[in-house]
Amino acid sequence: MNSNYNVVVVGGGPAGIGAAFSAAKLGLSTAIIERHNMLGGNWTAGYVLSILGIYTYSGKTKIVGGIADDVIEQLKKNKGTNGKVGNFIPFRPDEMKLTLNEITEKLNIKSYYSALVNSVDIEDNVIKSIEFIGKNGANKINGDVFIDASGDADLAYISHTGVMIGNGREKIHQEATLPFRIANIDESKVIKHANEYPDEITITFDDQGKLSRIRILQKLAVKAIKEKNLYLPHSNNEFLFNTCKQGEFVCNATHVNVTNFADSKIIAEEIENARKQVLSSLNFLIKNIEGFENAYLIDSAPYIGLRETRRAIGEYILKKEEVLNNARFDDKIARCGHPIEIHDSKKGVYYIHSNKGDDSYYEIPYRAIVIKDIKNAFVIGRCLSAEFEAQASARVSGTAMAMGQAAATAAYLMIKQNKSALEININELQKLLKKNGAIL
Ligand SMILES: Cc1cc2nc3c(=O)[nH]c(=O)nc-3n(C[C@H](O)[C@H](O)[C@H](O)COP(=O)(O)OP(=O)(O)OC[C@H]3O[C@@H](n4cnc5c(N)ncnc54)[C@H](O)[C@@H]3O)c2cc1C
Repeated sequence: MNSNYNVVVVGGGPAGIGAAFSAAKLGLSTAIIERHNMLGGNWTAGYVLSILGIYTYSGKTKIVGGIADDVIEQLKKNKGTNGKVGNFIPFRPDEMKLTLNEITEKLNIKSYYSALVNSVDIEDNVIKSIEFIGKNGANKINGDVFIDASGDADLAYISHTGVMIGNGREKIHQEATLPFRIANIDESKVIKHANEYPDEITITFDDQGKLSRIRILQKLAVKAIKEKNLYLPHSNNEFLFNTCKQGEFVCNATHVNVTNFADSKIIAEEIENARKQVLSSLNFLIKNIEGFENAYLIDSAPYIGLRETRRAIGEYILKKEEVLNNARFDDKIARCGHPIEIHDSKKGVYYIHSNKGDDSYYEIPYRAIVIKDIKNAFVIGRCLSAEFEAQASARVSGTAMAMGQAAATAAYLMIKQNKSALEININELQKLLKKNGAIL
């Protein structure tokens, strides 16, 4: 097989679909190469059932628009979400899969599933084609512009342009999580439990007054872990979010280390460990929280949810201090207001908030999505060119979609004007992004 496209997107997660949808809307022939059997990446394969990054962390100000609005609107039509709750948009995974397929079909995007990109053909710093492995063997795809939305910087890695892993100084990595869904929760009883035992759980309601979040407090979790009634590595995990259906919640308490993600044996051991944590967390909830007596496990995520693996080295590396001080850049292409959120195997989960408060944002520079030393390739989403802590903020899925739209819009200008990624005019790029709904 040998095919040609204007834009070839490696990975169909939030960043990849942001890029592919934008490229196709601009009239470019577009392909998505995806190793799973679905689009959505961590959303659908990893059960990250909430879109963060569309609003500032306070939830007050909208900072991402454009292609993300199209996805959310269509998801609402498919009854996969009721829209904004605080600062995020909860949703259900199958409605998301369906929504992404509908948009792909409408825009005439070609998807390749069960397709692992594993090699690249580069001449004079220009990527000519990529190869993916399917059950039928090797398949070659030619393109004008290539976009690395693999989350793991696979395109940069196989192109030998250099990658970063974890926090180099202290060898810290983000832990991975296997989220799981629970149904048949009696919400009125949970509310009663929270009112009677405010030191055990806290609850949060959404704008319509529906129960949206249940957080298990340290007192209960620490004790249970100590007494071996709860098998989790640490006690300060977020616990349960409503998925947008009454009585149905997703739990993201499990934490494992899949840092050496190249080693399949370690991946298997850690995922099996995460499954034990799923069962233990479920039993803990049934035993300890009123309203969970008849709760049952719907399913756990098809794949482990990866927060951080490899990051590409771009023309610029976004820094921790720039995130914390709301940096502004002349070549801005997206906004992000999420705090630095670290899931650390030793310290547990912790946040470092912006010095300017939770209704603020920093800008992502264009150079941080241009892969260094390649004339026609971008890197977007959670493998962008950023320091460890900066990635721990910029990785959220709303921001990933915005980066995708920026890369695709740049690709459009490159193809129309026969220019390389660093030759296009930034003002023209920003103008076109704004015209198509991006917030800059
Ligand atoms: C447990 C957990 C909770 C989170 N909570 C939230 C939250 O509440 N809200 C939020 O917005 N964000 C959250 N995040 C972060 C967010 O999910 C990710 O950072 C986001 O999915 C990034 O999107 P992406 O497209 O860059 O990467 P991914 O979602 O990882 O998508 C990458 C895609 O590329 C594919 N791929 C990888 N390598 C190849 C290859 N070689 N060939 C072909 N395809 C390939 C993968 O299969 C995948 O589909 C969470 C993450 C985790 C793990």
